[in-house]
Amino acid sequence: MTGAEGRNVVCSVKRCDETGTHTVHRLYLASIPAESGRWMLCVNVFRPHGSGTGVELTTAPRHGHSTVVRLGTRAAGLLREAITDAVERIEP
Ligand SMILES: [Zn+2]
Repeated sequence: MTGAEGRNVVCSVKRCDETGTHTVHRLYLASIPAESGRWMLCVNVFRPHGSGTGVELTTAPRHGHSTVVRLGTRAAGLLREAITDAVERIEP
């Protein structure tokens, strides 16, 4: 058994990385260290039982509480455009 298979044994939902009892299915896509590792920015796809999917952003400081923001398709698309625009402006 690989690690990936082992993580998903409990949940019967395809593309869910959660284990154990959970009310929201999540697919973990990226964990990005920021500000010299003082923050971790995580991007997930989430799906609560009985409702639609969305993008979940988590900002986790090295010390302290995490903040979770859930975005629908429209907000996630606007964020993607803003990030792309910002990155293009700072690239040399
Ligand atoms: Zn699940």
